Amino acid sequence: MLKRSFFAKKPRFEYETAGNVPVEAESIPVPDKATFFINRPLDGKTALSLKIGDRVKTGQKISPFPDGGAYAICSVTGSVTSIAPYAGDYGQSYTAVSVVTEGKDDFDETFGDILNNEGVEAAKDYLAGVPGAPAMDLFSSPDHGIDTIVICGVEKDLLVATNQHALKENVAFMNAGISGLKKMTGVHKIVIALPQSLMADAGGIGGASGVELRVIDTQYPSSLPRMIMKDIIGKPVPADKTCDDLGVCFVTAEAVASIGKAIQERKLPVTKTLTFINKDLSKCMVSARIGTPVGSIFKAFDVTLLEKDRLIVGGPMTGAAIYSEEHPICPDTDALMVQDGADVPMVADTPCINCGECIRVCPADIPVDMLIRFLEARQYEDAADMYDLYSCVECGLCSFVCVSKIPIFQYIRLAKYELGRIRNAEEAADV
Ligand code: SF4
Ligand code: SF4
Repeated sequence: MLKRSFFAKKPRFEYETAGNVPVEAESIPVPDKATFFINRPLDGKTALSLKIGDRVKTGQKISPFPDGGAYAICSVTGSVTSIAPYAGDYGQSYTAVSVVTEGKDDFDETFGDILNNEGVEAAKDYLAGVPGAPAMDLFSSPDHGIDTIVICGVEKDLLVATNQHALKENVAFMNAGISGLKKMTGVHKIVIALPQSLMADAGGIGGASGVELRVIDTQYPSSLPRMIMKDIIGKPVPADKTCDDLGVCFVTAEAVASIGKAIQERKLPVTKTLTFINKDLSKCMVSARIGTPVGSIFKAFDVTLLEKDRLIVGGPMTGAAIYSEEHPICPDTDALMVQDGADVPMVADTPCINCGECIRVCPADIPVDMLIRFLEARQYEDAADMYDLYSCVECGLCSFVCVSKIPIFQYIRLAKYELGRIRNAEEAADV
């Protein structure tokens, strides 16, 4: 992963390539209990439309809210056993619905019926919950302003190979997914960003329909959306804008393959593929039902968890720590990592020593040493106005190299989340 040249000033981090990870995915059995996160908090006032004891089917859209506006796709057949609040990163509130599974799948046919009778445009609402979690809300409005879709056949983090695996193993589904996306969105410019090593495998994707294949450098963080915008699309994203603002939407290769599979098989896929990174940094592909507790994966690989080991959803640079083996696999879980307690760097109270390592490594040329002073003091507006908070591409390199072990990346994410929350509240108050 890390190569240090004797002459180089910056460390060089290389992405995983699919050839380094076994092609066959280890299949995890259907869990006894599956849990689904729904992106809306319970308010304690609304009468719920889903109740404890209700029977739900595989592929069914489930929502406890009467308007159905926030939902998950159930990946198993069984009975609802709990509907409870769940606090995610930075205190974000979700609703967690748990289902005890029956022995056999009973597939819900609503998605297939809508697809058959009304076409793919009418069924698109169901596709936000498929493996890969495509940002379908971008496509729901006719004035979304999107003119380009970038399909990521490369990962957002190191040691992960999930989307390369999806692209390599699902050429037919990828083609069906691209056709479906074009119909649903009206967007016809499709770019697939992938490493050179997958060019031969991707040759059969979208050839007739003018899909553009673009090679991504294997040096981290070349595959992050803002880096792709600058290096591949030729539209650098200003600090106060998003990729969507410039008309470009990013989806993962797995999401596109899942859309294609759903359309071809008239049934929503419910099995997520992810990269499992073990304590010794060995990697393998795993397939598990969405909602499976991560503990089932540790069990399948005979991983013994010790007190100081760290569980991470995502990769080593940008992943988030989790604190329970009951945490479920979600539609966007591309990697699961268990880090040996002996290798976990301890966050210290040591102050910044102005070594400048974070500035040297930052791909966005942010004065990180100054930024962190404002973030530690919770002066988020100043951090944004004076020290380029929003130019951050969220690569995590600064945290990785910081000799004082300051969790800079976590401070940055928290600041962006808090500023977003404050600005949303201000906008709502103005309406
Ligand atoms: S995470 Fe750190 S290194 Fe990466 S772009 Fe942001 S400030 Fe720079
Ligand atoms: S790497 Fe850490 S200690 Fe060094 S300047 Fe940056 S924040 Fe300060």
